[in-house]
Amino acid sequence: MGNIDIFANISNITITLLSLLVLTVTLLIVRQGKLPIKTGLTCIYLGLVFELISVYAEHQINIEYMHGRSIELLTFIALCLIFASMMSFVVGALQILINKFNIPIITVGLVVITILGVASSGYFVFIYPDSNIISNMKQIFSIAGFAIVSIALWAQLHNRHAIGYLGAIIAFTVVTVIAILRMFFDASSWELINNWYLSPLVYNVLAVSFASINADFLAQRLDSYRQDIVKYNRRIEEIIKSSPFPILICRLSDDKIILANDNAIRLFGIDINELDHYRFRDFFADAENRQLLNERLENEKDVQDFEILVKTYDGDSPFWLLTSATTIDYNYDVVLYAAFQDITSRKNREVLLKNQATRDPLTSLYNRRYFEEEVRKRINQARKNNGMYCILMTDVDLFKRVNDTYGHKTGDKVLMELAAACERALRDRDIVARYGGEEFVIYLDDVDAENARVVAERLRETIAELSVPSDDGRIVKFTISIGISSAAVSDNIDTLIKTADEALYRAKQNGRNRVEIFYPSDMKNFKPDEEPHKDESANRHPIFEKEENTEVSLLDGITGSHIAEQQTQIEEKTSISPVVSSPRKPEDK
Ligand code: GH3
Ligand code: MG
Ligand code: MG
Repeated sequence: MGNIDIFANISNITITLLSLLVLTVTLLIVRQGKLPIKTGLTCIYLGLVFELISVYAEHQINIEYMHGRSIELLTFIALCLIFASMMSFVVGALQILINKFNIPIITVGLVVITILGVASSGYFVFIYPDSNIISNMKQIFSIAGFAIVSIALWAQLHNRHAIGYLGAIIAFTVVTVIAILRMFFDASSWELINNWYLSPLVYNVLAVSFASINADFLAQRLDSYRQDIVKYNRRIEEIIKSSPFPILICRLSDDKIILANDNAIRLFGIDINELDHYRFRDFFADAENRQLLNERLENEKDVQDFEILVKTYDGDSPFWLLTSATTIDYNYDVVLYAAFQDITSRKNREVLLKNQATRDPLTSLYNRRYFEEEVRKRINQARKNNGMYCILMTDVDLFKRVNDTYGHKTGDKVLMELAAACERALRDRDIVARYGGEEFVIYLDDVDAENARVVAERLRETIAELSVPSDDGRIVKFTISIGISSAAVSDNIDTLIKTADEALYRAKQNGRNRVEIFYPSDMKNFKPDEEPHKDESANRHPIFEKEENTEVSLLDGITGSHIAEQQTQIEEKTSISPVVSSPRKPEDK
């Protein structure tokens, strides 16, 4: 045993340190390269350290033995160190060679081997002493350890990591041959097989061989991943090409479109030769809509049946698409995979249906039902904030005459012009609706009655200045009367409409083409349960009664002089419209 005394020779120490240095450097390189074999190499490194300490222990045993002292405990410690060295090596090699080895089985195996190793060491030292125990155990442990690693290596052999295997096989052969020689010959008589540096040398060769095998492993795996990615990309391209739906793939990092099938190319007006000029955002017609989709994608990664308003690249007439979009990996990028379905006609139908439910078909103004629903909400809101509001009822003055003089078609045109003029004159937050016939109702937000009067007067003047050409080329002029009710009167929409209608009635009575306000004080004389005036307006003036009964137009060749007289009286008294200006029939006036 004394013949492997490394501490007797200074050059041996130098080689040992050099050997440690090589492993340290290997470890550092591996750490930098982020190869997943750090733990494995650390274990082999530890194995070498244990090995060297055990050699030192053997040296101590020699000294103790020569002084005739007990060497049992020291021998046991040396054996344990040799065993620990071998186990570290085995674990390290396994970690490098089989990256995904089954941890519980390996752990149980190693624990069993450790118990057996420590127990047998104890047995041969304390119970059945063997003077050659260290060298015997070294052989047993070495052969057992190398056998385990060999099995692991052979298990991986089909990977053919030529250089790594060559190194490993040479190292194993050397170790095995030396182990066998040591068993059969007297070690002390043969310097070559007894040289202490054989172990570090073998460890280093193995460590480097294993590292090389592992690097080969990784390269091969990378290669197969690359092939998989190519296959996967091709698959995605096939799916996209054969899809009956338009599909786009755009890179998340810069929003650039990197793949589009024929359907998408047609849908978005894409020039396939300039594909990388386009970004997904170029096709959105509504920035808010796009923002919403992005937020959904950020939160959910996968968005189904999301409606987007888009346009072609150069076009500006937007259309609706239903999209399902998801983020996937494609060609080493994270991309958005978006499939579309054109839902413009469905969307148009929806808008149409909604309009049918809420709009008046002639003037496109809101209808009464929508107005009442909406205003009810607004009043509730205003009540919470102590806000002000007014309701205006407007009615075209002597509209029947327009119909009678120019025909219903022109009458319709007048209503359309009137509606457009009201919308132009009011703010976005005000609401205009056709209440019925030629009566419009208006909700004015955030104004009191006096301010509403200013608005109403301005509207009345604007309307009085309108000129609508009749079908036969004449010019129709007309006026409106307006009644106002305000939040000061009531916060009930029915009462507000009734009181505004009452004020409108007063405006008619007071000569038309004017604005009247219903004040809170008017409530005293107001009977809310009375039928509204609007349907009776024709009866308010005897002349209209006659007009209907006699079926004559007030303006074109009136038959009864009595009627004509009454008409003139009214027109003089009220100086109202319709003012008819016709280049062909000046006498009409
Ligand atoms: P007043 O100044 O008192 O309001 O007199 P008027 O002639 O306008 O009387 P009233 O308001 O009662 O007349 C409503 C007329 O409006 C009756 C109806 O023929 C006509 N009218 C209602 N709806 C339409 C429509 O959609 N198109 C056309 N052309 N006329 C309509
Ligand atoms: Mg009228
Ligand atoms: Mg009317």
